[in-house]
Amino acid sequence: MPERTAEIETVTGPVRDPGATLMHEHIFGLSPEILWNWPDIPEGWDLELRAREAADKLTELKDHGIDTVVDLTVIGLGRYVPAVQRVAELTEVNIVVATGLYTYDALPPYFGNRGPGSLFGGPDRLAEFFVRDIAEGIGDTGVKAGILKCASDHLGMTGGCERVFRAVAQAHRATGVPITTHSHSASRGGLEQQKLLASEGVDLSRVVIGHAGDSTDLAYLEELIANGSYLGMDRFGINTISPFEDRVATVAALCERGHAGRMVLSHDSYCFNDRFDHEVVRRRHPDYHLLHISRDVLPELRRRGVTEEQIHRMLVANPRDILTRREPY
Ligand SMILES: [Zn+2]
Repeated sequence: MPERTAEIETVTGPVRDPGATLMHEHIFGLSPEILWNWPDIPEGWDLELRAREAADKLTELKDHGIDTVVDLTVIGLGRYVPAVQRVAELTEVNIVVATGLYTYDALPPYFGNRGPGSLFGGPDRLAEFFVRDIAEGIGDTGVKAGILKCASDHLGMTGGCERVFRAVAQAHRATGVPITTHSHSASRGGLEQQKLLASEGVDLSRVVIGHAGDSTDLAYLEELIANGSYLGMDRFGINTISPFEDRVATVAALCERGHAGRMVLSHDSYCFNDRFDHEVVRRRHPDYHLLHISRDVLPELRRRGVTEEQIHRMLVANPRDILTRREPY
């Protein structure tokens, strides 16, 4: 096991102990090319206004026992770290930001046109850019990414996704920061993600298979655990994919089978996302907000026999173990 270097990068600098942590959330989801050209879209992006709204939501979390959120907004979802920095100035809650790329299929042409076997060839810039975000900081913000993110969905491991996974694996091994994924549980997609990462020499215990909590298939989930990874039980509140009942029953069942040490909890929520109709989202998913775990999920887990020690593992100890940077290998 590589040595820990005992630091976790947040937007405001390194911390040693992140406390209770939501491992998969988003502060802002933005559409920069839309905003450049139609800045008056009704969804209304105003950095200071949205930063204050987001900070208020995060600060409310603090009163509900949460100390840190991991913002998994990467390229493809509208990452804009200067806005997240403003939020961090306005709240006590720690924010960890990510690097990586979100696509279910092709790469953005900037990357797709370059790299081995592409139109212009040359080196693949993905891994180089990810390492820069972790080692030097993102843009000119000085904020360092604390986690790597990659995605595949119902299309499986497409050529574009595969390039992102390989680049993420390389950046992980070069820097020692952990990996988290977006996976498609209905097609048991976490398994091929593990296979590809393992083929790049990744220690799968440094990987969170995200959205595993969309599944109720205990055999599938235990296979992911047996391969060494953590499960992201991270869409509490998105009840159209999997209802509250199923989500809590799955976590409780896995705790009972001794797997509390391999799960993390979150909502995959956004403080503001210009791709959402926030009114419709509120109507369809009334529990899809940052306080759902504290208010509803934890009490229900306790009612089902999940112990305080197991909750502490999922909310505090596992996130700290995952996020604590290790030596490159
Ligand atoms: Zn997400």
